[in-house]
Amino acid sequence: MKNDIRKIVLVGTGFVGMSFAYALLNQTACDELVLIDIDTRRAEGEAMDLNHGVAFSGSHMKIYAGTYSDCKDADIVAICAGVAQKPGETRIDLLQRNTAVFRSVVGPVVDSGFGGIFLIATNPVDIMAHVTQKLSGFDPRRVIGSGTTLDSARLRYLLGSYLRTDPRNVHAYVMGEHGDSEFVPWSQAMVGTKPVLKIVEESPEKFSLDDLQNISEEVKNAAQKIIAAKKSTYYGIGMSMVRIAKAIFGDENSILTVSTLLNGEYGESDVYIGVPCFVNREGVAGILEVSLTEKELEKFKLSATVLKDAFGGIRFEE
Ligand code: NAD
Repeated sequence: MKNDIRKIVLVGTGFVGMSFAYALLNQTACDELVLIDIDTRRAEGEAMDLNHGVAFSGSHMKIYAGTYSDCKDADIVAICAGVAQKPGETRIDLLQRNTAVFRSVVGPVVDSGFGGIFLIATNPVDIMAHVTQKLSGFDPRRVIGSGTTLDSARLRYLLGSYLRTDPRNVHAYVMGEHGDSEFVPWSQAMVGTKPVLKIVEESPEKFSLDDLQNISEEVKNAAQKIIAAKKSTYYGIGMSMVRIAKAIFGDENSILTVSTLLNGEYGESDVYIGVPCFVNREGVAGILEVSLTEKELEKFKLSATVLKDAFGGIRFEE
């Protein structure tokens, strides 16, 4: 019989990791879920707690606390391990601390014989995805950062409210770093098939470019605002990760703004950054290169430079 068990190993059972796990269970998005944390008791407790909800879910998910040897036959290893962002701390500040954490995670995962896809959420996520690719030596298509998927979801939600449209019919992306240098390419934002800029131009009594600018600022500052209010953000990113996992398992070729390694796209190379990508069973199957205006391309290049500088500052020797 063909073994088509969808298996995920989750490393880091903190707020983000467990929001991902809880959303996986509620959306029946995998068949086997292994929890790993440096705090092994925590992973065991989380597995027990989740298992007690299985009877109420539509799923037969097998959930247990495991070890890195469990990665051998996993389809996805999701890494949410690390140190959460403190109020006022930038994502880049987290870099060096989380690189040390990743050294202790990626090595054992690769040693297990893992041949699947890495899905990274730990911040600064673009750089941590690049670190994972470098430490693992994997084909970059099989190392995916959550990138700006959450930011794009925030944008679609806010734009949907502003334009009184179902967010699912708002096609708009946040591109670049998941962080301060991210930006919204408004030239590419659509409601249905109509450009948002055209809608704004046609109804100056209702809409304005200033409001659009405020929306992109609100998206950019959302994480800091939530952190100031409740210390960390987790539900939205957990659901973004499930969306990516579903695109992988379903071989969907869905377009998601994940973080991937560029190889000449937008005139950039050797940088992990959030861009619209086709995601399927192979990981990032391709990049949808959208037509940015000159100003948007400038913002993109600025963001790429921020990421390249930060990645270049990491010391990889033990
Ligand atoms: P958390 O502190 O609740 O959880 C982190 C977990 O990692 C803890 O359980 C800890 O024990 C574990 N851990 C630490 N070192 C480890 C190691 N060496 N091996 C295994 N496990 C280890 O933090 P959180 O709120 O869950 O956030 C996790 C990460 O997700 C942070 O980097 C945060 O900034 C990031 N995040 C990303 C996004 C995004 O859009 N990509 C959104 C929100 C948060």
